[in-house]
Amino acid sequence: MVHCGCSWEFFVSALSEKQGGGESMYASHDEGFIRGRVLHLENKRLEVLRRLRRDTDMLEEHARYKLQVLIPEIDAAFGRVRDGTYGVCASCEEPIPRARLERRPEAARCVECQEEADRVRTAHAAVS
Ligand SMILES: [Zn+2]
Repeated sequence: MVHCGCSWEFFVSALSEKQGGGESMYASHDEGFIRGRVLHLENKRLEVLRRLRRDTDMLEEHARYKLQVLIPEIDAAFGRVRDGTYGVCASCEEPIPRARLERRPEAARCVECQEEADRVRTAHAAVS
């Protein structure tokens, strides 16, 4: 098991050294309780590291999404502002509802057309 060195073995050796002197290290708690806490600490440490790893993966995924998807979408929206097509759905050419543009100012399509485009892209991704 990988850990910080604060293992039960460490506590046992520290404990027996003290007990050799006739005095318990743990005046207020019995050995079984402390052992339980040590095992809990070891498990907790592993769990925290495991979660940290997962959080880091999610963070990377999120950062990648921003860089590869969101920034290009925003740049494309600037392009539509320049050529006067901003706020017009790229598929059905109807005005994109204001509420959608307020929530997602980079939106290129109305909700219905975007869902359709996502469905097609997902289907293509599944095939390839
Ligand atoms: Zn549309």
